[in-house]
Amino acid sequence: MKYALVTGGSRGLGRAVCLKLSRMGIPVIINYQSNQKAAEEVLGEILSSGGNAELLRFNVADADEVSRGLEAWEQAHPDDYIAYLVNNAGIRKDNLMFMMPAEDWHSVIDVTLHGFFNVTRQLLPKMMMRGHGGRIVNMTSLSGLKGMAGQTNYSAAKAALIGATKALAQETAPRNVTVNAVAPGFIETDMTKDLPQDELKKLVPMKRFGKPEEVASLVGFLCSDEAGYITGEVISINGGLY
Ligand code: NAP
Repeated sequence: MKYALVTGGSRGLGRAVCLKLSRMGIPVIINYQSNQKAAEEVLGEILSSGGNAELLRFNVADADEVSRGLEAWEQAHPDDYIAYLVNNAGIRKDNLMFMMPAEDWHSVIDVTLHGFFNVTRQLLPKMMMRGHGGRIVNMTSLSGLKGMAGQTNYSAAKAALIGATKALAQETAPRNVTVNAVAPGFIETDMTKDLPQDELKKLVPMKRFGKPEEVASLVGFLCSDEAGYITGEVISINGGLY
């Protein structure tokens, strides 16, 4: 069976992507770091609606944990492989750069950029060898496209992920593995709940934050057969905010 792995699948955008891919008939591996209760809720929702899913805990920023977790999954699933990978796990640690602790610079880049590397590198050989093609979708951000004050760490990590998306897309295209990025603006999740939403909504031409399900629809499309000729793209989903 062809599985999907969604990193950071326990909450927010990742949760909505897990539910969407499951509704598309794809068995889903829900990765999370620490919030087991939230991950179990996503698992329960999928199973109770007749889908197929399982949990896989690892910190994407920890290369050893990622290797151990994915190797254990592969051993338990000798006839299956991961054909869909959504690199969604991410964190924010905002601060003006002159006040930013080095730890906050490194941790944001570790989760977003090194997390992408740790997970993707391990899955690529099988994805490319199987000959059935594959789909990689990287969750970047408007912040990585335009840069946002107070987010030098986050903007740098998300911009780097865009560069990696475009480079990897060229490496994997001959094997029909597409690699695309999705760049949301402001979406209603735990990550944005501490922001001054009423002020920020005024900046958005559509005057509202997006919903996780709207982002999940786009990710679902990029994972579908219909999107087979789209690769190396960054698709914005932001209510008109650029
Ligand atoms: P969220 O609500 O804070 O959820 C983050 C998810 O990532 C959780 O499932 C969390 O797992 C997981 N996670 C965090 N660090 C991890 C790690 N080291 N290893 C594995 N999993 C980890 O965030 P969100 O708003 O859904 O954001 C999802 C992605 O979209 C992020 O990459 C974010 O940068 C991007 N994005 C979000 C927005 C927005 O407006 N919300 C806009 C643009 C881009 P636990 O539950 O275990 O903590």
